[in-house]
Amino acid sequence: MANDTLMTTYARLPVRFVRGEGARLWDTEGREYLDALSGVAVCGLGHAHPAVAAALCAQAGTLIHTSNIYEIPLQEELAAHLLRLSGLERAFFCNSGCEANEAAIKLARLHGHKRGIKEPAIIVMEGSFHGRTLATLTATGNRKVQAGFEPLVKGFVRVPYNDLDALCTVAENSDNVVAVLVEPVQGEGGIRIPDADYLAGVRALCDKHQWLMMLDEVQTGMGRTGRWFACQHSNVQPDVMVLAKGLGNGMPIGVCLARGTAATTFEPGNHGSTFGGNPLACSAALAVISTTEKEALVARAAQLGQRMLDGFTQRLANTAGVVAIRGLGLMLAVELDRPCGELVKSALARGLLINVTADKVVRLLPPLILSDAQADRIVAEVSQSIVEFLAPK
Ligand SMILES: *Cc1c(COP(=O)(O)O)cnc(C)c1O
Repeated sequence: MANDTLMTTYARLPVRFVRGEGARLWDTEGREYLDALSGVAVCGLGHAHPAVAAALCAQAGTLIHTSNIYEIPLQEELAAHLLRLSGLERAFFCNSGCEANEAAIKLARLHGHKRGIKEPAIIVMEGSFHGRTLATLTATGNRKVQAGFEPLVKGFVRVPYNDLDALCTVAENSDNVVAVLVEPVQGEGGIRIPDADYLAGVRALCDKHQWLMMLDEVQTGMGRTGRWFACQHSNVQPDVMVLAKGLGNGMPIGVCLARGTAATTFEPGNHGSTFGGNPLACSAALAVISTTEKEALVARAAQLGQRMLDGFTQRLANTAGVVAIRGLGLMLAVELDRPCGELVKSALARGLLINVTADKVVRLLPPLILSDAQADRIVAEVSQSIVEFLAPK
């Protein structure tokens, strides 16, 4: 399928999907696939969910867009739900994860300047992913994402993930840090789950040094890990939280939530977005939240995740070449001892959509609406693919 119309930003797989329903997709040849990736943690309610489709159709026939020059009732309604679920106090809407992080980064800098810090710095992590804009690719802890785009943005300090001592060292040696930006579980970095007390430790350090604790929950949020937000596993309340992927079930929308002084740092003129939080996008996110609550999908994600983690452990724990099996809710990973990108293709040939990240980590982000039978099939087929891949040739 030669294609010279698009920029060469992606190494796309040669498959074209034309229709979806729940966790299933069909390609142009009518072949059926089971989706264990959800468009990378986006379609948590699966494809063509009737509640999302109905909300979008109704809103498209009523009012798609006005402008943030005017009040937008659906934006206020959506904000109220997100604040109720997160315990935060105010919301800024945008269209994607990187934009939500960009808002958080600007917010932290402005917050710093208001405190008299002229060159504010934000602590970020090795192995992190925050997006592809200049500021967020600088914040990202992966050289591959940055290479070729220098000069990078100033004002970031990098430390190892899951390392509170490293944060203490930064605290002792700098007086211009204003915030820490961290993922509760590193997604692109390989489903890295920190120690159980890590986020609480970050929170304590932020309190001690008057840093804003900013959580990137773009991938972990919206129920994926078995809580509405992954920080709720640790009973930790951030000052700033960003969401995007699962928020609109495929309708582009992102949000930066904040509390305390961070909630009122921005003043008119400081930040904005043409499309951010328009009525159409908000209608999708409102349908996502009401459906997730009505169908108790957050608890379901926890239950499904445990079922799949147990399944992988049973099948693969003693397989030579499997380094680790880990997961939190429906963020699941099987880490191998070698690069395994080709597994994506062998799974696709079996009619299964999976992902490999950080070279050696098979990553699964299935929709929250999966049936038990579908979950079991994913575990069986992914395990089989891994066993075949690792078998001596
Ligand atoms: C995907 C992702 C982003 C970037 O989101 P975009 O919508 O692609 O800009 C940022 N942070 C995390 C943790 C992500 O997983």
